Amino acid sequence: MNPEIADNIRYFHQLLKNSPAQLIAVSKTKPNEDLLVAYEAGQRAFGENKVQELVDKYESLPKDIEWHMIGHLQRNKVKYIAPFVHLIHGIDSEKLLREVNKQGEKNDRVINCLLQVHIAQEESKFGFDEEEISVMLDAGILDELQHVKICGLMGMATNTESEMQVSKEFAGLKTLLDQLRLHYQHDRLQLDELSMGMSGDYSLALDHGSTMIRVGSTIFGGRNYGV
Ligand SMILES: *Cc1c(COP(=O)(O)O)cnc(C)c1O
Repeated sequence: MNPEIADNIRYFHQLLKNSPAQLIAVSKTKPNEDLLVAYEAGQRAFGENKVQELVDKYESLPKDIEWHMIGHLQRNKVKYIAPFVHLIHGIDSEKLLREVNKQGEKNDRVINCLLQVHIAQEESKFGFDEEEISVMLDAGILDELQHVKICGLMGMATNTESEMQVSKEFAGLKTLLDQLRLHYQHDRLQLDELSMGMSGDYSLALDHGSTMIRVGSTIFGGRNYGV
């Protein structure tokens, strides 16, 4: 067990006290006991990026935890998290959104989603480009899909030392959110959330209007993925 976890949680709660942003504690690869330390320190929103791990932790930890699916989500696995997930951050295709809707319908609930936007220079990161989002919304997708709600956008900046580059990417995502908000009105389109910022770049993200920082290693320590 890592006793610094509670202090780290308290540090972030203090940091965000007068800000509109909240902390998503990214607990992937970490054991339940570490999550419980964070929970006891008052943290309720946890982020995971693997479906099986998310389900296992959901089943064994307190039921008032809000579970955030932050990673790339495969369509055939949506069904496992659909009954309980609080927010899916990584909606990166229309097909995935349709599957989430289908599973929302089966579970008789509306599932909260963020559209992931590709803002980084790396090709490897997932997400829509700006144009694809407009095309999808113009086509009236939300009239058709009644079991999803789009709550905002998510992005991952380039992994670079250049603060200028990262700032530019975060600013671009914020601008896109503001533009979409002006442009589209729908009951199930409430573009309030901007999920951006991780351990290495959360300060810059907060400067640019992040409402959800997803912080893992700064809170729980480095991850060991094993072999
Ligand atoms: C792992 C992960 C994070 C947290 O990364 P840290 O650098 O450990 O803070 C944030 N967002 C996503 C999508 C992740 O996969």
